[in-house]
Formats: sequence, C-alpha cells, structure tokens
Amino acid sequence: MKPKIWMSSPHMGGTEQGYVKEAFDTNWIAPLGPNVNWFEQDVELFLNDNIHVAALSSGTAGLHLGLVLLGVKAGDEVICQSMTFSATANPIAYVGATPVFVDSEKDTWNMSPEILEAAIKERIAKGKKPKAIIPVHLYGMPAKMNEITAIAKRYEIPVLEDAAEALGSSIDGKRCGTFGDIGVLSFNGNKIITTSGGGALVSHDAGLVKDARFLSTQARDEAPHYQHSKIGYNYRMSNICAGIGRGQMEVLADRIKQRRAIYDQYYKKLSGKKGIYFMDEPAGYFSNRWLTTLLIHPDEAGFSREDLRLALEKENIESRPLWKPMHMQPVFAGSAFYGDGTSEKLFENGLCLPSGSNLTDVDMARIFEAIDGILN
Ligand SMILES: *Cc1c(COP(=O)(O)O)cnc(C)c1O
Repeated sequence: MKPKIWMSSPHMGGTEQGYVKEAFDTNWIAPLGPNVNWFEQDVELFLNDNIHVAALSSGTAGLHLGLVLLGVKAGDEVICQSMTFSATANPIAYVGATPVFVDSEKDTWNMSPEILEAAIKERIAKGKKPKAIIPVHLYGMPAKMNEITAIAKRYEIPVLEDAAEALGSSIDGKRCGTFGDIGVLSFNGNKIITTSGGGALVSHDAGLVKDARFLSTQARDEAPHYQHSKIGYNYRMSNICAGIGRGQMEVLADRIKQRRAIYDQYYKKLSGKKGIYFMDEPAGYFSNRWLTTLLIHPDEAGFSREDLRLALEKENIESRPLWKPMHMQPVFAGSAFYGDGTSEKLFENGLCLPSGSNLTDVDMARIFEAIDGILN
C-alpha cells in the first residue's frame, strides 16, 4: 500500500519545539503562561485592526464562550449557517438555545444574506427575535460579511463570526475574524496552522476579551480563596500548545501561499474540464484556500464526485464530500431551516481534495494520476 495522502495534516515550521522547550525549562506546564501571552500578541498583530485575542483550548470553546458573552440563554433562538461543521452549531445547544438554520448562496457557498434577512423577518413576526447570527467562512472563502453585518446592524442582532477555517482570508484587506462582534479561530491539527488543539476568541471590545479570559479560567473572583460569582469554564489554551502556536505564526504567511499554490495546481489541471467547477474569489475577496474544493456535475462530467472520491481512496488518498448541512443532520432534525436548496446541491456534488501545505510534488503527481484515471 502506498503511503496515505491526507487532506490536511500538521506542517511544522521548525521553531515550535524551541518555544515548547522554553515552557519545559521554565516549568510553565499550565493552561496560560508566557507563550500564551506572546501567541495572543502574534495573532493580534496579524489580524491588525485593533483587535484583542484570547487564546483558548479549541475553536468550539470559543464559539461556546462567544454565545455566553453575547448573553444567549436557554430558550433563545440563534441563526446559524446550515452548511458547516457541527462544531459551529453544537454550542447553540450547549447554552440551551435553538438553532435556526440558513442556507448558502452560490458565490461563496456561505450564508445567504437574502435568506438571512427573510429568516430574521419571519422569526421576529413569530415573536422571537434571534439573539445572534453565526456565519462561517467555509474552506477559507469569506462569507459576504459586508452584507451580513449590515443586516445584523439593521435588526440589532450581534454577529458571532466562525473564522475557524479562514485565518489569513480577507475582504478588501480586512481579515476574517474581525468582522463580527466576536470572531472565533481554530488551531486544530487539520487547520492552516495548528497548536495541536486550540482556538481563540477575538473582538474589538477589549472588555469582552477580558471577560473571555476570566470565564475560560473558571471565573475566579479576586480573593485569596476560591471565590465565584459566575459559572466558569476550563477553556484556556495551554502554555505548551501556545509554544507550538508561536512557531506556527512565523510561517503562517508561507502556509497561505503554499495552500493557494496547491489550489492553483488543481485549477490549472482541471478548470475547463466538462462538468467541473471551482469556487472563484469574488472581487476583493481573498481566500487562504484552506481546502481546495470542486463541484462535479455528473450529467456533464460523466462521473460523480463519489466516483472521484472512491478512485482517490483506492490509491490511499483522502478526500471528502463538502460539509453535510446541519438541517440534514439527524441530530438537528426538526430545526427551523430557511433555504432554496443551494447547500443540499453543494453537498451532493462537492468534494474536498488533499490541500495540505506539506504536499510534495510526488504526492501531487499521485493525486493527478488518480484523477486522470477517472477523467479518461
Ligand atoms: C474546526 C472548526 C471548528 C471547531 O474548531 P475546533 O478547534 O476543532 O474546536 C468550528 N467551526 C468550523 C467551521 C471548523 O472548521
């Protein structure tokens, strides 16, 4: 069996172990510590825009804390992009709220501003104004944030921006994660850079980020004993993980270039082939191309995305259908959904291809050989 080619695997830059060793040498083996502070500063500098960052144990923790900080409570409704990873929607259930799912639009595959507004109007007419809106930047492609935040402002609903897949993506130079009232990043092992496991909550509101740090370290009031007046969480990033993150931040710009180069290779090879469609960047949009994705229209192409997936699998190459929309998931059966079938079609025809920044020319040749087998 040939070695496995993964869709997206960790890619160290080389300095990570030095920062981790520093943590060991100083015995800072704890959630929080100097690496965490430096890592937060690195991410703040990268995102720019006077943003504040709290490093956490995961992106999921960031989304959960985000909802808590926005005051979402049991019985509330939260509007959520339907096509996404379950980690976007699960935190709505953690706080006892109910998700209202909104479909994607065709340009970015992310939340449709038109359907969002229709959904808000109908929920308000039903006497239930949504407490938050969660758009997602899938595969690194920014959602239509200018339109979405304008609607959110008009109806005075806060935006919790799931930028887990979009570190380094931007619209007109403004980085993903900085559009919402709160943004969330992920540093899981499969993301564009990783801390092995980790995430961050970011906001322009320094007070909110201070509260996130407080809640994520068990909400300890100032006192010599353990004193609590709020429910806390154990969600802070470990000083070891942050050491990895400091090294990874040094190579983030390279990783974006490398992922985009992988996309370009696929594009060169496959664009213009019958029935194969890529997700182009709208004017002013910049995607980190975390994953290269394709749509295959089987009636035009003569094969389906599943045919291609199985052909790759036979060669020990990992690929995967696009995110299965949340309104189609058994766990969210019966949830409200506003849509026009866009995300269902994307799920039916879409495939994520191996996109790691550490893919070699030999790996790419193997991938293209398997794709050629299907094309011919
Ligand atoms: C990875 C991911 C998350 C969750 O991040 P973790 O750090 O794995 O908890 C949330 N939303 C999306 C869209 C993701 O891809």
